[in-house]
Amino acid sequence: KPRLVEDEDGGVIFLSSSYSSSSSGYGYVSIEKQRQRLPVYKYRTAILYLVESHATTIVVGETGSGKTTQIPQFLKEAGWADGGRVIACTQPRRLAVQAVASRVAEEMGVKLGEEVGYTIRFEDISNPDLTRIKFLTDGVLLREMMDDPLLTKYSVIMVDEAHERSISTDIVLGLLKKIQKRRPELRLIISSATIEAKSMSNFFLSSKRRQALECEELRPRLEPAILSVEGRGFNVQIHYVEDPVRDYIQAAVSTVLLINDKEPPGDILVFLTGQDDIDAAIKLLTEEARSNGKNSSGLIILPLYSGLTRAEQDLIFSPTPKGKRKVVISTNIAETSLTLEGIVYVVDSGFSKQRFYNPISDIENLVVAPISKASARQRAGRAGRLRPGMCYRLYTEEYFLNEMSVQGIPEIQRSNLVSCVIQLKALGIDNILGFNWPASPSPESMIRALEVLFSLGVLDDDAKLTSPVGFQVAEIPLEPMIAKMILSSNELGCSDEIITIAAVLSIQSIWFSARGAQKELDEAKLRFAAAEGDHVTFLNIYKGFLQSGRSSKWCHKNFINYHAMKKVMEIREQLKRIALRLGIVLKSCETDMQLVRKAVTAGFFANACRLEAYSHGGMYKTIRGSQEVYIHPSSVLFRVNPKCVIYHSLVSTDRQYMRNVISIDPSWLTEVAPHFYQQQRHNPTIH
Ligand code: ADP
Ligand code: MG
Repeated sequence: KPRLVEDEDGGVIFLSSSYSSSSSGYGYVSIEKQRQRLPVYKYRTAILYLVESHATTIVVGETGSGKTTQIPQFLKEAGWADGGRVIACTQPRRLAVQAVASRVAEEMGVKLGEEVGYTIRFEDISNPDLTRIKFLTDGVLLREMMDDPLLTKYSVIMVDEAHERSISTDIVLGLLKKIQKRRPELRLIISSATIEAKSMSNFFLSSKRRQALECEELRPRLEPAILSVEGRGFNVQIHYVEDPVRDYIQAAVSTVLLINDKEPPGDILVFLTGQDDIDAAIKLLTEEARSNGKNSSGLIILPLYSGLTRAEQDLIFSPTPKGKRKVVISTNIAETSLTLEGIVYVVDSGFSKQRFYNPISDIENLVVAPISKASARQRAGRAGRLRPGMCYRLYTEEYFLNEMSVQGIPEIQRSNLVSCVIQLKALGIDNILGFNWPASPSPESMIRALEVLFSLGVLDDDAKLTSPVGFQVAEIPLEPMIAKMILSSNELGCSDEIITIAAVLSIQSIWFSARGAQKELDEAKLRFAAAEGDHVTFLNIYKGFLQSGRSSKWCHKNFINYHAMKKVMEIREQLKRIALRLGIVLKSCETDMQLVRKAVTAGFFANACRLEAYSHGGMYKTIRGSQEVYIHPSSVLFRVNPKCVIYHSLVSTDRQYMRNVISIDPSWLTEVAPHFYQQQRHNPTIH
């Protein structure tokens, strides 16, 4: 029965009830001891036996039980990497790839990039001759299939975090199932934090195989094995708010301070949704902790989201000094992908950023949306690693019980499928609707994607990749619209500029997050702002950065993130290499920005919007779908409101906001994408 636990001026009132999972734990010990104490250690022989005797093994185990870091090592020790073979382990998230690879290298006492390596897009820290255990994103594994369709160098592929059902994970699973038929010696391990094992197992057991099983002695090999690693978390006491909170950032901050005041030592993990609200919470928490006095001086407040530098990541994983309390404010990356030691308290906002796509309006955006019960349980579980913990849910128990969905929706069913379709086409899979999906995407989304790809000139009338454009677009490891923009820039003579823009667009933000210095940031932006829009502004910044001699001081002065700029330089170099391979010669258009805008239009015509003539507050409508959108306040075109613009992406809060916007001439649309803009029955005329 729930009971009232705490009241506080901040307005956060928690009711408590608890759920339990059994447990035991460990203190600070040597790496070898730590390894042996992980739950999977006891299953070492079982795992190796199952992998030996089954084509597919499904391993289910609570986060932190050692699946990701240990299983690849077990396999290596058992000889699966002998004779030049490689053990692969995929992750949906880039940051997780880096973190687990460096942990495993440390455990094995080897240099990262040699025996243990990793590959994420634009960053390959592996060595084809030396690397025996390779961590990679599932997206990179898909790319590798383009060069080596049967993934011949891998002896075992572990598809990790399968419960997340990321779009690339689902595609990879579908393709691996095909590869298995051609490579009976290949072993798959599907690992997951939640128990959806049965449906995964059924997926790998096709109807044909089921028939075969009934009559043959092949049984043990084809039927996937399922192994459940007993979790060993401590009890986690769950607290709910009594009334719904209005502002989860404020509520999270108040809760952290409340825990700090009232509860014994132990680190705190807060789940928010993205960089913006994490930065806002850190600012608020820092201020409130300061005014709160001595009790809060021991707080070490750290953000955790993708795009952190190496040094920032290291802080998160380093042990908390005595007398201090770490507060890690994270996206849902800490839900199952990463294990942080020392967390005793979890604060769960109940939200995460999720991609949603509406094929009718053809709009995809990132939305702050409620999490599922399965996620809420995972989040709570992060508190019970070392000793009994507590989880503070910033939503009511009634909401949890009656309104939260049981499971999340696989990403493939809520995404734009343009990238997915082109990748499958490039791998020679023509019947995409008939592809064996773990969860089928909607036919509407599929048709939309085919239509956009057709308009981009990537697919022909028979929905086959065009030559050379289609193959070239598929070759560029960026979304097809960016790839098309790069190809068009070659014809227009502005590839030098467009490659810089593509590099900037492929990182999260080049601005320094303005914790409490919004005004200064806005002023800094004005220094670079270009009338044409954000893309051209990026070029000004890039030029300034080069002229400063790539100075970190210059970045600091201008509120530009130095690490992000260094990343841009790196990505730019890689794109340059890819462009050269495709026969694109770098050429600058000097000051003719019209060419740059045209190249952007050639890729992103589908995102064109027109200012509503009689609207107040800068309302735009997408030309194709007539959806209401607004320019995001972070754009240099905010309040400038040109008549016709193209956006790079949408974020949705109270409204749909366009991020990274460039002004264009609407007549270019029919020029670059006649099919897309002329054959619309309900299409408003463009002029
Ligand atoms: P799982 O994949 O089952 O969630 P992991 O293999 O990621 O578990 O983690 C197992 C254990 O390894 C964790 O409980 C933690 O003790 C340790 N560990 C993992 N990554 C790190 C890291 N980057 N730094 C320190 N310890 C880590
Ligand atoms: Mg893991």
